[in-house]
Amino acid sequence: HPVLSLEHVGLRIGGARILNDVSLDVPAGEMLGVIGPNGAGKTTLFNVVSGIIRPTEGRVLLDGQDVSHVAIHHRAAAGLGRTFQTSSLFQALSVVENVRMVAQAHAGGATSVFRTPRRTDAATTRALETLAEVGLEHRADAVASGLSHGEKRKLEIAMLIAMEPKVILLDEPMAGVGSADVPALTEVIRGLHRGGRTVLMVEHHMEVVLGLVDRVAVMHHGELLAVDTPEAVMANPAVQSAYLGEAV
Ligand code: ADP
Ligand code: MG
Ligand code: MG
Repeated sequence: HPVLSLEHVGLRIGGARILNDVSLDVPAGEMLGVIGPNGAGKTTLFNVVSGIIRPTEGRVLLDGQDVSHVAIHHRAAAGLGRTFQTSSLFQALSVVENVRMVAQAHAGGATSVFRTPRRTDAATTRALETLAEVGLEHRADAVASGLSHGEKRKLEIAMLIAMEPKVILLDEPMAGVGSADVPALTEVIRGLHRGGRTVLMVEHHMEVVLGLVDRVAVMHHGELLAVDTPEAVMANPAVQSAYLGEAV
């Protein structure tokens, strides 16, 4: 069965229909791009999948289990990790401390971020391995607030890896990242996928999307317009008209 399934997911807030009848199966190990005009419902869809918002209709299944009513932290423990459009780091902590906190929480230990970190413990070792995976080990002792945008994104991805997720949701990983940092960050995302993890990525940077993904899901006005290979999606007339006035 697919690692992630959405079955007729809908969301109404007040009188507004934010998501409408979204159905989607994501096989294990797939990298799926999620594109669509601003306001199409991409972030809201991630919020529904990660448990920040409960759908008013339909179901979300993780590994075949209905998690529609499972709280966000339990979904995270079940293997669902995500990043946000805006940064979610502890800016005053060092790079390794940010990752160590997640690694320690994942291992079930109490987090002790306000104590002097001891370099010898297992969580620190795991944090340093994770930083090496994203190419940030040389910045382990830097304070997070001093990182470039590209480095912050790498750190957020390292924090995700430390949670050992099955499914990763990346919301605009290239947002705010200088063009010089895009290729390296693209390689980090490719590496996530190579590790056999399933990745869903909202991204406006089309060269990045097309260079990385197996399939593309196109959202428009809260609906899923198409889910197909990048080539088929770009040739789809409904997709082209949904993007009128925006660069595809
Ligand atoms: P995208 O990520 O595709 O740019 P969003 O998912 O952020 O789009 O938003 C989709 C639509 O839902 C937008 O019109 C937005 O204003 C609306 N929306 C999102 N969250 C809420 C909310 N909590 N209450 C009301 N409207 C919302
Ligand atoms: Mg947006
Ligand atoms: Mg968004």
